[in-house]
Amino acid sequence: MAANVVFKSHNAFNRKAPLPTGAIQSIPRLYDEKKAVLKTLDDQRHARSVIGERIRSSAKDPSAKETALAEAKLLKEEVAKLEQRLEEVEEELFRTAVAVPNDTHPDVPIGPESAAAVLAQHGPELIPASPQRDHVHIATELGLVDLEAGAAVSGTSWYYLKNEGALLELALTNYAMSIAMKYGYTPVTTPDVVRTDVAYRCGFQPRDDQVDPPVSQMYHISQSSSLPELVLAGTAEIPLAGMFANQIFNENKLPIRVVGLGKAFRAEAGARGTDTRGLYRVHQFTKLELFAVSPETDSENIMEELKTIQMEIFSGLNLPFRVLDMPTEELGASAYRKYDIEAWMPGRGGWGEISSTSNCTDYQSRRLHIRYRRVSSDGSEASGLPFAHTLNGTAAAVPRLIVALIENGARFDGAGNPVGLDLPKVLRPFWLQAGERDVV
Ligand code: AMP
Repeated sequence: MAANVVFKSHNAFNRKAPLPTGAIQSIPRLYDEKKAVLKTLDDQRHARSVIGERIRSSAKDPSAKETALAEAKLLKEEVAKLEQRLEEVEEELFRTAVAVPNDTHPDVPIGPESAAAVLAQHGPELIPASPQRDHVHIATELGLVDLEAGAAVSGTSWYYLKNEGALLELALTNYAMSIAMKYGYTPVTTPDVVRTDVAYRCGFQPRDDQVDPPVSQMYHISQSSSLPELVLAGTAEIPLAGMFANQIFNENKLPIRVVGLGKAFRAEAGARGTDTRGLYRVHQFTKLELFAVSPETDSENIMEELKTIQMEIFSGLNLPFRVLDMPTEELGASAYRKYDIEAWMPGRGGWGEISSTSNCTDYQSRRLHIRYRRVSSDGSEASGLPFAHTLNGTAAAVPRLIVALIENGARFDGAGNPVGLDLPKVLRPFWLQAGERDVV
């Protein structure tokens, strides 16, 4: 146990995970207490049923009946106290354990964002950075977006997509969906509202109580106390993972591959600067998410498959992009390893993240109870019900793709004014006609 404790806290340190003070020591203590309370509770419940029997059989012996009734009353109080303690211990254990991050793949670079390893770069030559290619200016001039109306109606970082901007959203999601389906991913549309508990189990912290005052990264939905606590999903990964909760799969039915279309809602508390300009960091966006449930032996291969699909999507869009192996401090709580893809955005003057893929190993499935039944090489069932591995990856985060397509594909007249947009031909089969306009 001791070696394990040292390793875990070292891992949390490398990942700069916000562990509550004393968490590493209190988790095994709470777990042992939970087991002990459960055992006593079981014994007491058994004793209660024995006394119940005694009460029934002592109908003709008033004094024996009275003694049994008194014992039953004491036991009832005892059981109520134990049930209360069990609830407290389980709650404290859950609260502490959800703050513990996953283990880390040994090849993951240690450190902050700047320690990311660039694995590859693809696509056309980089267009020199220039303010002329700013997506906000181009999209506003071409009537693709209305940020003012978004701000007036919902607030800053909310937006309307219009004309070819709106069509681009539809074409991009269908294009990315078609590639995911080609790789055997089943299309799903997801609920965008999830129980807070499911978000926690997936490794998200809907409310960060470690900081003062506490910060919410998810939008909480207020409602009557008779309904469960709900949040708007920050990504379809949450409802997709939740879809497989409390299930046991036969190993030969794995991996399960799905591609989910949903709206992602991000409070983005604390976001500022150039990131919040235009469509780059917004509060709501359409997101197509790849998700897989795999046996533990297969998850590293599936992670490579997710990267291959993403690369096919972005290569088809003719975007210059690079693939990064993200360092420890950039891994979400659930990720064992994470690859990000960044596209070149000349108007923003740099690389901007367009997708992220994570191998969550058994982190989410332990919390959501997703298991599988091993099958031996001779086809018979092997013993044990191991936890499955879960993986997720962005197939299309629409606004960031629109930023990249606009900043790389804008056409200008002799005076340097934007006059149109060159879009990749892969989108043509998914494009609805937009009337008389000739912007694309
Ligand atoms: P994440 O789930 O945070 O890894 O994000 C997945 C992808 O969604 C990122 O790679 C971005 O392309 C995109 N994304 C994340 N946050 C935002 C945001 N606030 N606005 C627009 N796109 C975002």
